[in-house]
Amino acid sequence: MSRTPSRRTVLRGLTATGAAVIGFDPASRSWAATTSESGTELAGIPRLVGTLLTDEPSLTAAADDYGHIVHHRPVAVLRPGAVRDVVAMVRFCNEHCLPVAPRGQGHAPFGQAQVRGGLVIETTPLADIGPVGPDSTTVTVGAGARWSDVAKATLAHGLTPPVFTDYLELSVGGTLSVGGMGGQVHRHGAQVDNVTELRVVTGTGELVRCSPSRRADLFHAVLAGLGQCGVIVEATLRLVRAPETVRHYQLSYDDLETFLDDQRALVEEGRFDYVEGQVFADADGTFRVYTLEAVAYGPPAGPAPDDTALLRGLRHDPSRVHSADLPYYDFLDRLAPVIAAMKEAGVWTYAHPWLNLMLPGDSAATVSARILDALTPADLGPGVILFYPLLRDRLTTPLLRTSDEDVSYLFDILGATPPNDTAAVERRLAANRAAYEAAAAVGGTQYPVGSIPFTPADWRTHFGPAWPGLEAAKRTYDPRGILVPGQNVF
Ligand SMILES: Cc1cc2nc3c(=O)[nH]c(=O)nc-3n(C[C@H](O)[C@H](O)[C@H](O)COP(=O)(O)OP(=O)(O)OC[C@H]3O[C@@H](n4cnc5c(N)ncnc54)[C@H](O)[C@@H]3O)c2cc1C
Repeated sequence: MSRTPSRRTVLRGLTATGAAVIGFDPASRSWAATTSESGTELAGIPRLVGTLLTDEPSLTAAADDYGHIVHHRPVAVLRPGAVRDVVAMVRFCNEHCLPVAPRGQGHAPFGQAQVRGGLVIETTPLADIGPVGPDSTTVTVGAGARWSDVAKATLAHGLTPPVFTDYLELSVGGTLSVGGMGGQVHRHGAQVDNVTELRVVTGTGELVRCSPSRRADLFHAVLAGLGQCGVIVEATLRLVRAPETVRHYQLSYDDLETFLDDQRALVEEGRFDYVEGQVFADADGTFRVYTLEAVAYGPPAGPAPDDTALLRGLRHDPSRVHSADLPYYDFLDRLAPVIAAMKEAGVWTYAHPWLNLMLPGDSAATVSARILDALTPADLGPGVILFYPLLRDRLTTPLLRTSDEDVSYLFDILGATPPNDTAAVERRLAANRAAYEAAAAVGGTQYPVGSIPFTPADWRTHFGPAWPGLEAAKRTYDPRGILVPGQNVF
């Protein structure tokens, strides 16, 4: 590579330790650190409010994620000081055909937010939460805001987004790029179904406001769009009245079909505000202990919970009912102590070859039973198995794919494997692929937050009737295909 500054385009940014300069050679499309700081004769240098990081720890961190399985090293990490930094750098990367990926909390487990030889854009600095008042019906937040902060800001006024992921420390932009699922989805749709407007930086570096009535093609290509058509920089989220307290039930089952049927009945009837469920191994190591988790919101979002009415007709073991009343935020943030304990025990840094399937209601029991039969406690490690019952008519975002049946189940095997046991990780990845194929054979697909080896042809099948819209939007909004290669969609 040429060391002559005048033949290069140089990006100048300020690191924490002072001025840093990296050079980009448009001819070879390669980058390198340079000692030159004479930027005067160098063309195309975006002036940044924020920071362009090229130090070792920043690049190494951006080449890792929650999965600890894939490691693609970028050449620079943008820590934007303002949205205009994102615009400037995406324009620059588009001009030079350099790959780019936004990164929220980096909790995708399979390299989805990584970009070999390109630019990672941290969204965490874009975390403003707009004004909220007691009568607000929406709140506008930066894409880097975490759901925990959005919840705290809105709850101060008795309001809440209607749907939360189980874990609140994910970025708004990160979950809106995949869907955003939780136990409230059967009632309100996914997080993506509760967005009224977005501000997006497209792959050509255009800053666009879009909604269902304004640039709708972009709006629908970005929500659950895996970052393929634009970087979300801001989202306007729907708000509803929050309960002060909730009643949280855990009901025990010893039969998979009965457990799933009761989940289905509950969401079809809409008796509870939140329905999920977990599977555990019995003493023999077989996964056949089922807990249905259901939550009823109290005033002012719902009536005072009535145990008799709420549990009527369910087929759980009545001798093993646990219920507890909790402040609403404590319920939303119920994983915080569990995750603190996992971090303390060192298992947060395990590899996470996660499997997340969308199963059609009618075959969910058969397909999941086969997958669970083949699973051992050692395969799962310190992980969890979850079922979320979903109603198709509540899911309105074209790119969030489920099955065609009225009821689907999101079935998650969230395993954890010691990071240096690469053979175990490879086995889980192969098992994930086989499980995906079993799901696809009955009309299911994946929920794309896990670690399933997936090709562009698989994505075409996955998106089905929504594929032509995504492909057209990609051509319009990211014609050079620079955005988010880690998803392997195009
Ligand atoms: C402990 C844990 C619990 C979880 N619980 C749930 C759950 O209950 N429900 C659920 O639905 N999911 C859950 N997930 C999955 C999670 O929602 C997704 O992995 C989500 O994408 C992670 O958000 P993030 O901010 O870490 O995104 P990242 O991992 O940083 O990014 C994920 C993908 O989105 C892209 N992206 C990130 N920000 C933007 C943006 N602003 N604009 C465009 N594209 C962007 C990235 O390039 C990448 O491709 C969980 C994950 C973990 C690790």
